[in-house]
Amino acid sequence: MRFTKTRLALPLAGLALALACGSPEPPQKFTQKLVILGFDGMDPRLVQRWMAEGRLPNMARLAHEGTFMPLGTTPSPESPTSWSSFAIGGNPGRHDVYDFLIRDKRTYMPDLGMVKRVAPKFLFNYIPVAMPEVESLRGGTSFWVIAGRAGVRSRILTVPVTFPAEDIPNGAMLSGLPLPDIKGTIGTFYYFATDLSRYEEGNTEMGGILKRLVFDGDTATTELVGPDNPIIKAEEDAIRAKGGKLSDADQAQLAELTAHLAVNLPFTIHWNREAKSARIDIDGTSVEMKEGEWSTWVPLTFRINMLIKVRGMAQLYLIHAGQDLQLYVSPVNWRPDSPVLPISAPASFAPQIQKELGTYRTLGWAEATWPLNEDRIDEKAFMDDLFRALDDRARVILHEVDSKKWDLLVGVLESTDRVQHMFWRFLDPTHPMYNVADAAKYGDSIQRVYERCDRLVGDVLKRVDAGTTVIVLSDHGFHSFRQAVNLNTWLVDNGYISRQGQAGSKNLNDLFSGGQFWENVDWSKSKAYSLGLGQIYFNMAGREGHGTVHAGPEYKELQDEMAKKLLAMRDPNTGAQIVSAVYKRDDVFWGPYIADAPDLQVGFADGYRVSWQTSLGGSPAGLVYPNMRKWSGDHCSFDYKTEPGTILSNHKFSVDAAQIIDLGPTVLKYFGVEVPKSMDGKPIF
Ligand SMILES: [Zn+2]
Repeated sequence: MRFTKTRLALPLAGLALALACGSPEPPQKFTQKLVILGFDGMDPRLVQRWMAEGRLPNMARLAHEGTFMPLGTTPSPESPTSWSSFAIGGNPGRHDVYDFLIRDKRTYMPDLGMVKRVAPKFLFNYIPVAMPEVESLRGGTSFWVIAGRAGVRSRILTVPVTFPAEDIPNGAMLSGLPLPDIKGTIGTFYYFATDLSRYEEGNTEMGGILKRLVFDGDTATTELVGPDNPIIKAEEDAIRAKGGKLSDADQAQLAELTAHLAVNLPFTIHWNREAKSARIDIDGTSVEMKEGEWSTWVPLTFRINMLIKVRGMAQLYLIHAGQDLQLYVSPVNWRPDSPVLPISAPASFAPQIQKELGTYRTLGWAEATWPLNEDRIDEKAFMDDLFRALDDRARVILHEVDSKKWDLLVGVLESTDRVQHMFWRFLDPTHPMYNVADAAKYGDSIQRVYERCDRLVGDVLKRVDAGTTVIVLSDHGFHSFRQAVNLNTWLVDNGYISRQGQAGSKNLNDLFSGGQFWENVDWSKSKAYSLGLGQIYFNMAGREGHGTVHAGPEYKELQDEMAKKLLAMRDPNTGAQIVSAVYKRDDVFWGPYIADAPDLQVGFADGYRVSWQTSLGGSPAGLVYPNMRKWSGDHCSFDYKTEPGTILSNHKFSVDAAQIIDLGPTVLKYFGVEVPKSMDGKPIF
């Protein structure tokens, strides 16, 4: 079952909110209570070490009273995949989320997974007659819906892969990943600076917009790139849909439309060089900041025409204002009280939380990993911002714990994952990005985040009634990402991809704006390709657009042959084994969505991860290169058997080993609800 969300027709939205607010609370049918707190990527080895050192007293208390063990993850150990498996209690073949990306089998083009967007429609290119829609691509039925049908009252808060929000009988949901920013991306940040050259301007590999500032005296005017104008987008699509080679007139019109596609918000910076400060006038708000200061949330309205406005909010950070001026602007978040599409179910839930708690970050990918990875903000700014993201999620969770309007509460925060992606280099002195000075300054960052999570566990334990079962868990662990592996280059070198000439390098913007992929690849002579993080897809006859591999013996032989070669892959510099396991499709995936599964899932050894360019289908020269990015820890594409998540509970388990797919059945059993046959997992108590 998949679900669709659309914006309510505007005149009705207020009425629907009023009705939802006035609806009575569902009756309490159950006496048992269960809280699940999720910390994305929390690694069991680190939990064990820091519990032993007395740094995580609340988690240690759970381990002492109940259970602490590793929690087996999914064969593609990625957050969207493993949290989807958590939700439906089954392997990825039952929910269809194998990776961050999906592919169009006909054209081989990558696209962002998890959701499908349907564009709005306009009358006379002006009046909106059909609202934008977004459909979740996660299949299966989540345990909170099944429990809700049986009368279990729930609160499901910022769990990954819960956008669009699901309607839960007797429950309420606040969306998490992949809830996008105002541009529809997972987080486009902005960086404005006087010391940026023309050459550096534009879009970065990981999705940031860099603009050079030119001051006239103390004043500079620039603009914030906003959402695409859906009316212009529709005109563009109509021209592209003509297919074939476009006429000169069409090409000229397309170029003209593209130049005006984004709806931008102009703003002015007044710079006081002596005071090292600036005043920023943006959309009716005046923000005064000293060097090193962050603003509070600034409301922003992008006006598409007289009838359509898109509302958002951003935080500004004045990095420097002395010799040069550098200004960072966060991705423009949707506002909790007026989102582009509903971000909660019921739609009134998110605005209600804002009314009671004040505004809070809505962006699914809440932490500023991309600007740190691109060296536009430093470690300190990243951590200051990360703790605010963490605290926003924690505030919402505690607020809902206090409401007592639930029998089942699930709340997830992902700051644990983000800090490990960016700071793992300080836990691994052999990492190419390790350095003693930074390690001395920031080496305890991951530990500080774990400690903050431990305090949240303590706060929850203090607030819940005696007898409440509390489970703390994570979806996967972590590895060091020292070397990047160009898996598509390996496929080219081994004759599985036929490519003439070179392929250009890819960036995330290509994904959102219909960029070039797979240049110079001759599909009629290619057998396989890699997209995403560790997935290899075969070029199947009858499935792919120009398929060459046939189902049956040929398919199985290719799986065997390629698995053998992958396991034999050696680091040309050290001779070390790069791939420690290869999983064949039908050995690890089954269910209604098996047709979309990768034909091989590669499990890299500690230290090696698939390269960013491979994930977007690129194949640059060379097999292995040192990872010189701050994004230094990862879990994606590693052998899933070597990086389980963590589970802790005040309840004793009746099993010796547990997997993330066991949680759904466990929750249902806890409330006496029959576990459906579609769940692969087994109750753990
Ligand atoms: Zn991650």
